[in-house]
Amino acid sequence: MTTPRRTRFPLPLDAVVERKPAPERTAGMPAIDAARKAAVPIVPAAQTPPNALKPLSSAITASAMQRGRKPALSSTPQPVAPGSAVEARTSAATAGGGGMASDRARGALTARLRASGIRDERVLRAIGTVPRHLFMEPGLASQAYEDAALPIGHQQTISKPSVVARMIELLREGLPPDQPLARVLEIGTGCGYQAAVLSLAAEEVFSIERIRPLHEQAKANLRPLRLPNVRLHYGDGMLGLPQAAPFSSIILAAAGMEVPEALLEQLAIGGRLIAPVAVPAGAGGQGGAQQLLLIERLNRHRFHRTALEAVFFVPLKSGTI
Ligand code: SAH
Repeated sequence: MTTPRRTRFPLPLDAVVERKPAPERTAGMPAIDAARKAAVPIVPAAQTPPNALKPLSSAITASAMQRGRKPALSSTPQPVAPGSAVEARTSAATAGGGGMASDRARGALTARLRASGIRDERVLRAIGTVPRHLFMEPGLASQAYEDAALPIGHQQTISKPSVVARMIELLREGLPPDQPLARVLEIGTGCGYQAAVLSLAAEEVFSIERIRPLHEQAKANLRPLRLPNVRLHYGDGMLGLPQAAPFSSIILAAAGMEVPEALLEQLAIGGRLIAPVAVPAGAGGQGGAQQLLLIERLNRHRFHRTALEAVFFVPLKSGTI
């Protein structure tokens, strides 16, 4: 195996480590170019209002280094560097199925996210690298690079790229592009898309899914990308993953009435948790309204909470199916 040069984004296809046959799901890929040419609306204002982030406490900014520091612990997936073989492989996985077209579509998506206010270069590069079309049914692949949540079966959805980018950017706030998040826990793997994006922005990613067929699907989706720093677990994410705690970052991809206590306990001191939560009735919330909540753990007992913009996520549910 040859070692790829450290190339700048976007990776040219000749930087690819190995050319694997296109996975089955690339069958619908020729349609991507058509989708790219169609005008794609920018994120609705309700999802990502500009400058919606309230000022954060200085303690949170000071904790950036802590988030980039790896909590001492057990099983250790390999870290992934930007411009690495993993990024090259994600390009390789698209090479047989409309690869160049999807490269362009991802580039356009990244440009739209940048224009809508995403600033973290590592996040933008990750979104520009992960082949989102491989995480959905071929019939929907033509919409893969629109900024939309799309069905993945079992009444669940693949998250909007802008929301994925926004949430990871919030976790990374204060970190330079060359510094990955340390150990991240994702609740709600779904099809595995966000886990793949996280793998390019973090050293280690643990992701839990409660619906077994989706867990299996995510494994199948991620396999061709061969991301060495992602671990998928089947289970109830409301319980967290005590055997791998503490986590420097926790991200929930489903909305609960509140953030489960177990997850707060498993957040490292100086760590950040980002979650969609139901807006409490009587706090201006209408039925079903949700908002993003950013929680930073200041010390063993103190948590700093910042309520951010309105969002819409599938529900966080307990138990497994
Ligand atoms: N991360 C996904 C989003 C999937 S949608 C992406 O990349 O697009 C949210 C997922 O959260 C669903 O698959 C749902 O089954 C899952 N979920 C809801 N409650 C959960 C829980 N308690 N534990 C684990 N997963 C949960």
